[in-house]
Amino acid sequence: MIVKPRIRGFICTTSHPFGCASNVREQADVTRELGSVAGCKSALVVGCSAGYGLASRVVAGFGCGANTVGVSFEKPPETDKPASAGWYNNAAFDLFAREAGLKSTTFDGDAFSHEIKRQVIDELQANYEPIDLLVYSLASPIRAHPDSGERYRSVIKPLGEPYEARTLTLDVLKGTGRLTPISLDPATEDETVATIAVMGGDDWRRWVDQCADEGVLSEDFKTIAFTYLGNELTYPIYRGGTLGRAKEDLDRTCRELNEQYGRTGAEALVAALKAVVTQASTAIPVVPLYFSILFKVMKAAGTHEDCIAHINRLFREQLYGTEPRRIDEESRVRMDNFEMAEAIQEEVRQRWQSINEENLGELADVEGFAGEFLKIFGFGRDDVDYDAEISDLASVVRP
Ligand code: NAD
Repeated sequence: MIVKPRIRGFICTTSHPFGCASNVREQADVTRELGSVAGCKSALVVGCSAGYGLASRVVAGFGCGANTVGVSFEKPPETDKPASAGWYNNAAFDLFAREAGLKSTTFDGDAFSHEIKRQVIDELQANYEPIDLLVYSLASPIRAHPDSGERYRSVIKPLGEPYEARTLTLDVLKGTGRLTPISLDPATEDETVATIAVMGGDDWRRWVDQCADEGVLSEDFKTIAFTYLGNELTYPIYRGGTLGRAKEDLDRTCRELNEQYGRTGAEALVAALKAVVTQASTAIPVVPLYFSILFKVMKAAGTHEDCIAHINRLFREQLYGTEPRRIDEESRVRMDNFEMAEAIQEEVRQRWQSINEENLGELADVEGFAGEFLKIFGFGRDDVDYDAEISDLASVVRP
């Protein structure tokens, strides 16, 4: 089969096995080139197959030399349909980790369920040293509650007032875009509660508690979850909206975990990360326009980072660094310092005001955004022959 990108809006229904493997290889190489990090030895990454979770697993493995267990929800290939990109990323990670002499086990299934937690903990008890790092990097639209079975669906909506703005509609394959108006009604109370149930701290706490209760966490473990803060342009749809409420719950959970486990030297952290193109972030209205303006400004300033550069800096500078951490008044680790730098934000604000169809390509990195989006699915790489026939859709290695 020859695999080409099949795109509808911000969804790509195909992914390229060798392209995904090359992405993971590149992340591992970038990490190795930065040198080793004295950090974790045994790590669990929940949400390991893509975006910030994958980058965390790569840095834990290829930077710290840790054995890793990962959990994610991905689709295997079918006879005539490639797997999801995350499935290929996991297969490539497991392969490269083993080549490097690292233990690596990946579980595919619903991280919210009791069943997957059981399987993961059984594996950790049987085959791994107690974990000293638990990364929680889930981004999910839906959660079936593990006790009640109730299904919660998260929504990305403003609170209180309707929100009207412009966003970017992309033609990913051409690398072009146009500005389109969007209008969102405020969330209902039930929708807000559901979003907190899916994207808040409850499941993070369940992972930590169960791992601690069953003896698979080291006494001085670290656990980290990720948040986004953004600015006043993204505020109505992010921090001031339903997702922001869920992230406040994550901050609360972090404080509670520290109270509960801090005595033995363990610590829970929430890191505010920068904007990057992932499957989760492109689903947020307004984000494509804000991100593509931001990327153009940050690239010009020389401060732009992709997932792997950002997570390397997180591990090397903040998580396992020797200097005092960059912590805000809510005790969050601030990794978004380059994005939030006043000069960057001022330039983004000005461009946001003056952007129109004519100057879009000049003020925003539409092509870069589209390229990053394609790359998530293993497309648009120079080192992959996209016209070549693939004989085995389940392999990330060319026979
Ligand atoms: P992503 O879409 O790239 O990855 C999400 C991961 O969650 C994947 O591994 C997916 O398989 C997994 N997943 C989803 N539902 C699951 C389930 N039920 N069971 C098991 N695994 C499941 O997302 P991302 O953008 O890397 O987001 C990760 C975290 O980082 C989120 O908390 C997000 O809010 C945060 N964050 C993202 C950005 C950004 O710009 N992308 C910025 C700051 C913070």
